[in-house]
Amino acid sequence: MLNIVLFGPPGAGKGTQSEKLIEQYQLKHLSTGDIFRANIKGETELGTLAKSYIDKGALVPDEVTINMLKAELEKNPNAKGFIFDGFPRTTPQAEALDELLASLDTSISVMLALEVAEEELKARLLERAKTSGRTDDADPAIIQNRIDTYNSQTAPVKNFYADQQKLQEINGLGSIDEITDRLFSAIDTLD
Ligand code: AMP
Repeated sequence: MLNIVLFGPPGAGKGTQSEKLIEQYQLKHLSTGDIFRANIKGETELGTLAKSYIDKGALVPDEVTINMLKAELEKNPNAKGFIFDGFPRTTPQAEALDELLASLDTSISVMLALEVAEEELKARLLERAKTSGRTDDADPAIIQNRIDTYNSQTAPVKNFYADQQKLQEINGLGSIDEITDRLFSAIDTLD
């Protein structure tokens, strides 16, 4: 199986690039942000809980997020591989993901970490707000919280995969196609 963690700060292009990767490699896309938003739209209990964190730009608690991810993995027993987009966002989530995949006799193949400078992220998120309908993209204070949360809680997850020799940093600046090409070549040269 090819199991990819597509990593990076908010606005790095994870969603856009996931679309390219799933098409090229026939992977199942698991975006925890998308799943939370679907729950908010469907007015589920999970959605109500998640919304209270998302609206502030904070992380949904690990236990809730991990249980949700586990349920999504179980819904897809025949997947050729997964692309994890927006997960793991904390080291406990990364540890839980390793355990979940081990129980399925598989593991993470690579973490592809998109690198984009903070000023560019803020500009991209405000631009995306015009069409995404996401309130967490439209407010500079919430954007700043998301970036601060990324820096304090999420960026350290890179070390978890670096220790396993699975981290590959990818320049996230340039055209969408240029970035896609960088991701494809990183995947195609995995040993
Ligand atoms: P995203 O669509 O990945 O930008 O995620 C939007 C929001 O959903 C984040 O700001 C968090 O509040 C929440 N979220 C998404 N994925 C996770 C995760 N793995 N752990 C905790 N919260 C998450």
